[in-house]
Amino acid sequence: MPDTSLDLTLDAATLTARLVDFPSVSGTEKPLADAIETALRALPHLTVDRYGNNVIARTDLGRAERVILAGHIDTVPIADNLPSRLDDDGVLWGCGTCDMKSGVAVQLRIAATVPAPNRDLTFVFYDNEEVEAERNGLRHVAEARPEWLQGDFAVLLEPSDGEVEGGCQGTLRMLLKTTGERAHSARGWMGSNAIHAAAPILARLASYEPRRPVIDGLEYREGLNAVRIGGGVAGNVIPDECVVTVNFRYAPDRTEEEAIAHVHEVFADCGVTEFVVDDHSGGALPGLSHPAAAAFIEAVGGTPRPKYGWTDVSRFSALGIPAVNYGPGNPHLAHKRDERVETAKILAGEERLRNWLTA
Ligand SMILES: [Zn+2]
Repeated sequence: MPDTSLDLTLDAATLTARLVDFPSVSGTEKPLADAIETALRALPHLTVDRYGNNVIARTDLGRAERVILAGHIDTVPIADNLPSRLDDDGVLWGCGTCDMKSGVAVQLRIAATVPAPNRDLTFVFYDNEEVEAERNGLRHVAEARPEWLQGDFAVLLEPSDGEVEGGCQGTLRMLLKTTGERAHSARGWMGSNAIHAAAPILARLASYEPRRPVIDGLEYREGLNAVRIGGGVAGNVIPDECVVTVNFRYAPDRTEEEAIAHVHEVFADCGVTEFVVDDHSGGALPGLSHPAAAAFIEAVGGTPRPKYGWTDVSRFSALGIPAVNYGPGNPHLAHKRDERVETAKILAGEERLRNWLTA
């Protein structure tokens, strides 16, 4: 029988290798969730709960503040990059090394080695982050057991190259339709061309000047772009419909409603006959001015950066909890066949978090 135990006395780098050699592609996390649950239940200072393949552990010391350390335990599909391999330069290679078993290892080490933290701690290990949002374990816990996620500040140990990344931008995909009237293209004057009618939309996109707002000292960069265009019936027909799909990446000082209203406003006089929201995930304010966040940044050092992509920090933000990304992996190496992480960064991340929570 294979050894399925997790030894939390291993250092975070060695523990990362152990977690990586415990494959957990999205949808197959159960054995790893079982191992994490078993290892955490052996720690008398933690209360452990489980919902599906999501494991939540917490201290209950009555501290003034509660901090959440969260990470997903799934990975993207394996790409001939298991088992893990440690090279002479201290770089650990393999699926999930960067995104984000190195972060999960740091969480587990803090859980095991800081029994009396200066802030109460909640550790969240969740499944299905790398797949569609409906399956996301953090979302399921937030819906079914919101009380488990209460806290003053959350740190997501997603790869951020050992720097603090605050908040995240929202992403809105909208379909902009134009309509015309079909006719034979030999007698085009008898119809009206919906593709031509989309020209003002494209002109507006080309001249659009995105904002670069500064929020909590971080500069965000918005973007409004066409990502798809479709129209046409046949080679001899004047088309009666055209759809331009636009993706609006917006700074977190706009609400979801305001983002939709902005797209309507930008294209108000461009002949759009229908606006449809195709996909939407709101942003998250960095919340760096919150005392718990400020104390964290001071303790771990470095200069916080904005997060342009969308991450689960926005889920915490929706619960009213300021959240940042802070993990040892380099985000540019996530999901790659040659995914890897510097073990020195894992150990440094563990050390900084421990210092912050024991100071
Ligand atoms: Zn990730």
